[in-house]
Amino acid sequence: MKYKAPRGTRDILPADSWKWEYVEEVFRETAERFGYKEIRFPVFEETELFARGIGDATDIVRKEMYTFSDRKGRSLTLRPEGTASVVRSFVEHNMGRSARVTKLRYFCPMFRYERPQAGRYRQFWQWGMEAIGSLSPAIDAEIILFSVRFFEGLGLKGTEARINSAGCPSCTPAYNDLLRKELEPKLERFCDDCRERYARNPRRMFDCKNDNCQTLLSDAPSILDALCDDCRDHLAKVEAHLAAISVPYVIDSGLARGLDYYTKTIFEIHYTKLGAQSALCGGGRYDELIKELGGNSTPACGVSAGVERLISALEEEGAFRDTAPGPDIYLVAGSDEAAESNVTLAARLREKFSVEMDYQGRSFNKQVQEAGRVNARFVIVNKGEGEPLKLREISTGWEASPGEGKLEDVIRDRMKG
Ligand SMILES: [Zn+2]
Ligand SMILES: [Zn+2]
Repeated sequence: MKYKAPRGTRDILPADSWKWEYVEEVFRETAERFGYKEIRFPVFEETELFARGIGDATDIVRKEMYTFSDRKGRSLTLRPEGTASVVRSFVEHNMGRSARVTKLRYFCPMFRYERPQAGRYRQFWQWGMEAIGSLSPAIDAEIILFSVRFFEGLGLKGTEARINSAGCPSCTPAYNDLLRKELEPKLERFCDDCRERYARNPRRMFDCKNDNCQTLLSDAPSILDALCDDCRDHLAKVEAHLAAISVPYVIDSGLARGLDYYTKTIFEIHYTKLGAQSALCGGGRYDELIKELGGNSTPACGVSAGVERLISALEEEGAFRDTAPGPDIYLVAGSDEAAESNVTLAARLREKFSVEMDYQGRSFNKQVQEAGRVNARFVIVNKGEGEPLKLREISTGWEASPGEGKLEDVIRDRMKG
């Protein structure tokens, strides 16, 4: 019997996991500079939370949720995204009682029952952040700037923000009516999904991936012409902030996000070098969601994106170094006695450096080869029999025999370079 990872899941092995650690580290550092603190929320929640929070008409809720009953018959769902959980936590812990804006970030796996295909997994990772408690357009601009800076930090320079408005409860009902009226004559030519979306929420038709449906929608009325004064003014202020902080952006009236909870600003950040699939993240404002999920009416704005997509974009762009980072030092033993004493030497050096060594009694030459294979920066050759240790930097051939007492100092000086 051989076991395999379940369909749609995979292992991230050390040959790649260092890239994930690197991306997460850049995310963490950038988010800290913008004041977003980490939240860790449960892997599963009550199904009702997602049905309500994400929206009954969305593909996620209709087709993609991992829902199961527990032993007491409660319906639970593996989290398909982060915002509903963050909002549930915000309400549950009454975070809104302070007058501050609550700024949270996450970087964790999500679960959707999708047909597995290249780059798409049923367990996939998302990074995201949410700012809850302010209607200020400065928050929208800040989250867009964060996303741009995060990608820049990873080496993707020259991104473009595309922004649109999703309207608000005072302007979307009239827009829905207008859309239905305009689309009704050609409704039969839309796909089955779109006809269902037409009834539930016609704006979701813009999410359809069917080319024919997109063509039919090409002359549909734009939401930008239907915005109320409040939404129009908010969008203008977001634009003014983006201009002031030099974030390149375009207004894209065709931009739609596949979730029902968005209001006012919605956006995506694109890296156009990637061609058709150039979106690296998306987000927007969700001023009604906290009330919808049982809290006090509280405005909020957020962003999220898939990590798999980001990592493959970084690979395509050559943004990673070529090989996994190796240990600082590889210890090579030239005799059995030296192999014994390397155990002590490794223990000592590991207080300050990353150290690898041989555990299999391999020959001297094999150990030297191994030091190169694991991409160590230095080798320390220990011949034993009272011979002094020899330190060598593999890439340059630089050598020294500093004597045991000075070993750490010499290595540290060389590393500072
Ligand atoms: Zn409005
Ligand atoms: Zn369609």
